[in-house]
Amino acid sequence: MGSFSEAKKPFPFRRSCRHFMLIFIFVESALFSSVIPAHCADSINLNEIEVLRGLSPSIQSSSNIMFTGNESTLKFEADSRVFIFNKTMIWLNQPASKKDNDFAIAKYDADNLVTPLLLLHQKENMTNSNLTVILDPGHGGKDTGAIGPKKSYESRITLDIARRTKKILDSPQIKVKLTRKGDSSLSRAERSALARQTKAGLFISIHVNFSDNSNASGIETYIVAGPGFPSTAGNSSDNKNAAGNKFDCSNAQLAYCIHRQALDITGATDRGIRHARFDVLQDAPCPAILIECGFASNPADETNLLKKEYRQNVAKALATGIMMFLNPSQPVISPTNQPVTNRLTSSNTASITSCFTSCYTTGENSAR
Ligand SMILES: [Zn+2]
Repeated sequence: MGSFSEAKKPFPFRRSCRHFMLIFIFVESALFSSVIPAHCADSINLNEIEVLRGLSPSIQSSSNIMFTGNESTLKFEADSRVFIFNKTMIWLNQPASKKDNDFAIAKYDADNLVTPLLLLHQKENMTNSNLTVILDPGHGGKDTGAIGPKKSYESRITLDIARRTKKILDSPQIKVKLTRKGDSSLSRAERSALARQTKAGLFISIHVNFSDNSNASGIETYIVAGPGFPSTAGNSSDNKNAAGNKFDCSNAQLAYCIHRQALDITGATDRGIRHARFDVLQDAPCPAILIECGFASNPADETNLLKKEYRQNVAKALATGIMMFLNPSQPVISPTNQPVTNRLTSSNTASITSCFTSCYTTGENSAR
């Protein structure tokens, strides 16, 4: 992930004494609590969320509740930010809570995460597609990003995955552009600017993870944190209503489609759909996600990342996930043991659907 990682941002007071840190944390907390937007405190009982009413609730334990339907299963845990949707880990913007026998989540999460996911397959097909997809290979040039012990370079791996994805996805109906075509430097602002200039419909940023813990492995997918809510990795927040928050509804759906496909096709460990305020997500003028395709710091992940077969599988997952998002009523199924069609056929691109119109509308109803 390199410089995109919030966790790796240089902390300005790293060398200062603990007193300064405590003062800083106190002031930050005080400022945050004084500006916390009202919608962050709004919660809703799960049994009052309309899309959950058609599902059967069952209390699993004193801290867990499950909702089961024909096509979807959801599991929430009290005091946890993680919920499970169709076997996929997804972070809430705010932990679920439990009072007496009632479980509740933030209304923002109900409107922008849970509801869009449950309505994904009910969107109308798009009959006329003229879509530009921006694939953003992370880093480049002097900024190599993560470098693994076996000399895996993030900037090279992400570029290779982006090129492979473009080969699969490019068609008369879907124009695929890369933010960089070679090993060149590119600022984060330039990456978002290309999406604006091309009036892109989707923005996919591709990265490789790194951790001091070499046991950490698997795939993470990020969407921008809800306004006023902390990122997955942090406790503090800002009240910024970023441009990318306009698409929170679509961001959740796009992340799910791609993340689910990535897990199914690669067999990688599920590290969940998470929230962060990466620049490319905050500034995106369209639905956007950032995917971490594995850990260069993990021996097994790095071995995979160095194999072209693994990178091709990630590319298939990105292409398939994008198609699943565009055409949710006819998802492209690509189990691990079956090859994905190498190029989209004219018949399925002609019927490509989009939830853009509806999501752009519902995305704007969010309290901000
Ligand atoms: Zn990176």
